[in-house]
Amino acid sequence: MAAASAVRLIVDGNLGRLARWLRALGCDAAIHEGRADRHMLRRAFLENRIAVTKSRSLAARPFRGRLILITADRWDEQLAEAAAALELSFDDRAILGRCLDCNETLSEVKKIAVEGLVPAYIFETQAAFRSCGRCGRIFWAGSHAEKMLRVMRSRIPSRLP
Ligand SMILES: [Zn+2]
Repeated sequence: MAAASAVRLIVDGNLGRLARWLRALGCDAAIHEGRADRHMLRRAFLENRIAVTKSRSLAARPFRGRLILITADRWDEQLAEAAAALELSFDDRAILGRCLDCNETLSEVKKIAVEGLVPAYIFETQAAFRSCGRCGRIFWAGSHAEKMLRVMRSRIPSRLP
């Protein structure tokens, strides 16, 4: 089993939704914009990332690194495929680790610093907040962790505690 926070991926631009889900789980999931081609494989090799693609022709190329071919069309099935291939284990602490949009690692921010920046009921009910140094978006546990974890559990029960 691989801890999600230790997994480095480069995801085919056609699989953007899958990439966001993998980020939500704590994976470092860069998106390769543009065609899934040899440039993507080169970047995967140079950056020591596992390539995740839907392109059968790309998967057929010789590649010194690791590549995972996704065959499903639905994002939830894609997620199950990727989680199974990566033997991902889920760590609740890694869940809020990355910005869904930028893939940046989130930093903890003091509660008082987000007053007025998040909806009032969120401010009142949540204790911990994190922010993305790149886009400035603020995340809290309820913003994706719980909902996503619930979906994950329903999709791939065998992979979750
Ligand atoms: Zn961001």
